[in-house]
Amino acid sequence: MKNIAILGATGSIGLNTLEVIKQYKNKFHITAITCNKNTAILNQIIEEFSPDFAVITDKNSCNDYEIKYKGKTKVLCGEDGIHKIIELSYIDLFVNAISGFAGCIPTIEILKKGKEIALANKESIVIFGDLITREQYKLIIPVDSEHNAIYQCLSGEKQSEVKRIILTASGGPFLHRKSLEGIGVKETLEHPTWRMGKKITVDSATLINKGYEIIEAHHLFNLPINKIDVLIHPQSIVHSIVEFQDNSAKALLSIPDMKLPIEYALIGKKHGDSIIPPLDLSKIGHLDFYEPNTKLFKGLEISRQCAETGGTMPAVLNAADEIAVKRFLNGEIEFLDIIKILEKTIKHHKTIENPGIKDIIKATKDAYEFAKGVIV
Ligand code: NDP
Ligand code: MG
Repeated sequence: MKNIAILGATGSIGLNTLEVIKQYKNKFHITAITCNKNTAILNQIIEEFSPDFAVITDKNSCNDYEIKYKGKTKVLCGEDGIHKIIELSYIDLFVNAISGFAGCIPTIEILKKGKEIALANKESIVIFGDLITREQYKLIIPVDSEHNAIYQCLSGEKQSEVKRIILTASGGPFLHRKSLEGIGVKETLEHPTWRMGKKITVDSATLINKGYEIIEAHHLFNLPINKIDVLIHPQSIVHSIVEFQDNSAKALLSIPDMKLPIEYALIGKKHGDSIIPPLDLSKIGHLDFYEPNTKLFKGLEISRQCAETGGTMPAVLNAADEIAVKRFLNGEIEFLDIIKILEKTIKHHKTIENPGIKDIIKATKDAYEFAKGVIV
């Protein structure tokens, strides 16, 4: 029995993780789950899985829940609760499915404990990638579908023979648009191939998500940024490609379903009793690939430049984007203004080279404040 903790259990990845665990009834014990505010879903998970601990990081939501809750699960309030769970020595595997910067410090702490982590929270690597050691990277099993695919394709291969990595991208809901003017929230949240949390869905529409994924791949696979390319592939069947020096290539194909990379990470980096439908290529008929339109979708180039600058800059990119997406979802700004906020916040920031954790946290907080005040 593997003791598992799911950080961000109430979100899209968290709930998919629980679906996978249901298929492996006697293999996992859910030791701990966490959420921020969504105590209704948290409560359903507690009733179904009886974890030892449940953390609610938003203190008001936690206090309200604690008054009513009468069960056996120990409820912990605030971010401190997450730190307490990371201290539990009997947890074998952590799944980090918290969204945004909030998921980063838990990743660093879990790695310091030498524990294995199934990592969906890509921000941990985008922001703190330089502070994670090569030894610690060995503890990370990427859940992000593209990186999970590359991880599998690289298995048994020599790093020195890798020519480049090609990250595939669906292109999001606005792939065939000639202009991004006048786009609303509802259509932005209608992703053609993946069902995900709101933040990453908006990031997929701007292609900032793919920009993050370039930085994530750069650190995870120890490759220079210029060896990581992006290819638009609307069907999301080919999850990414590794090209070798002899121009042969390996790819991982499946219907798009996050349960597959999650299952691979949970059951010890192997192929399980797959719970997703089979891939019938004869029914799909054709797979399409295009170069990304980097003039219209500026997010890719912005991310590449932030990665090349390094230091505190990727943290600033993330912080500006968190605020810009929040402002867009609140109806305060237009879709195209997201990029304007990123550009202005990045321009304003003076990069600190070789930053420590505190420098990165400060750069993030400063960028949050600046991005909130950007007039578009
Ligand atoms: P969701 O928004 O669906 O879920 C986020 C989870 O994090 C929820 O449990 C939420 O709690 C919790 N959370 C949010 N804010 C905080 C906070 N400040 N402190 C503590 N917990 C918090 O996101 P997704 O599941 O879509 O994404 C999670 C991560 O996985 C992201 O980093 C994303 O980029 C990455 N990812 C997601 C994919 C997907 O298919 N969804 C694919 C690849 C990567 P509550 O419910 O209470 O708000
Ligand atoms: Mg991805």
